[in-house]
Amino acid sequence: MSYTHIQNVVLDSTSGSLILHQGCLQAFIPDSDSYDTPSAREQTLDGRCCHVLPSLTDIHVHLREPGFEYKEDIASGLAAAAAGGFGRVLAMANTRPVNDQGSITRYMLQKAHEHHPDGPFLYPVGALTRGLKGKELAPLAELAEAGCRAFSNDGLPVQDNELFRRALEYASDLDIIVIDHCEDSFLSAGGVMNEGRMSDYLGLKGIPHVAESLQVSRDILLAAYLDIPVHLAHISCASSVELIYQAKQKSIPVSAETCPHYLHWSEELVKGYNTLARVNPPLRTPDDVLALRQAVRENVVDIIATDHAPHADFEKEVPFAQAPNGISGLDTALALCLDLVRRNVLQLQDLVRLMATSPARLFGLPVCTLEPGRPADFILVDLEHRWTPGPDTMLSKGKNTPCLGQTLQGRVMAHFLGGVPVINRL
Ligand SMILES: [Zn+2]
Repeated sequence: MSYTHIQNVVLDSTSGSLILHQGCLQAFIPDSDSYDTPSAREQTLDGRCCHVLPSLTDIHVHLREPGFEYKEDIASGLAAAAAGGFGRVLAMANTRPVNDQGSITRYMLQKAHEHHPDGPFLYPVGALTRGLKGKELAPLAELAEAGCRAFSNDGLPVQDNELFRRALEYASDLDIIVIDHCEDSFLSAGGVMNEGRMSDYLGLKGIPHVAESLQVSRDILLAAYLDIPVHLAHISCASSVELIYQAKQKSIPVSAETCPHYLHWSEELVKGYNTLARVNPPLRTPDDVLALRQAVRENVVDIIATDHAPHADFEKEVPFAQAPNGISGLDTALALCLDLVRRNVLQLQDLVRLMATSPARLFGLPVCTLEPGRPADFILVDLEHRWTPGPDTMLSKGKNTPCLGQTLQGRVMAHFLGGVPVINRL
């Protein structure tokens, strides 16, 4: 079904109607303005007072295909993206086989096109090193040629500084940004949660926050020395935020993301050995949560990405130290972030910057705006709608989220890409 009129929606606190024409936004007509009522042959959707926001972009997801389709596949991952409001996602390379050759990239793109021809759109992230082993560079030019939009060793951080330097240089020649998972794997070895009071209390081996910030400082120093941009993935602690702040003060070309879980939960959530709270980097202290909230508000951290990491139920139903890292995030990210808006931590326009405009700009993807003449890529969000994440409401195969069974407020009721509804719950 294609629509040309979407009535009864709210745009920047004005209610009115969106007019679409051939996949583009033609106009927004406030209710106070008179205009010709749509003729019978035009297709009208009642927006039921939903807010119109640009379609979101998530630069950090794990869609598990090829190799781990029991956790997620490209079809289900993109369905969850559509439902969560994300029209474009960057999928990490830690599949099996690893996405370190053009044929894997092309396979992923073909699967995405087969199952979701109208979007959401998949942009594969190529492995930075062969097999993500951190020993030799992957064929970066071949990966770029096949369609990779970024390179990353996410999950298995590169420890060899010389190799990482060369990776930045090669990627820069191809005009592609490296996304770095910042972790000193010697400092973090064997750790399963944040190192501190709570890990002492629970008797679990901790990962100190300096394991992250040490690598953040390496990346900043290399970015400054080479004058090559680097993007820092899933920043989790105040000490990294401080380093990024200082780097930006000096105009060093560094950007960073954090995730909804680091803005919401602290290590307290691990109490009771809750495996749904196990994630890497780990949930940190309440002070880190506050520092990250300030960092996204003040644009020190540029982007909110999900680090969507789905797992099968049975994999999390094990003792804490044996559980895999990761939180399934595509279905719930927007609701969690809207909670920050309700608590006045962020404004709605901050969310648009952090989840739509900045990620698209940084990675050279189409920037969704709601201006007339632009592609009709937008979501209709009911800010009041209450729902409970669970098997019936989440489209990701992975239900591994700490908000499982809890009430969230705010939901994507419809999602349009190029004027085509990819989700419609209205
Ligand atoms: Zn990741």
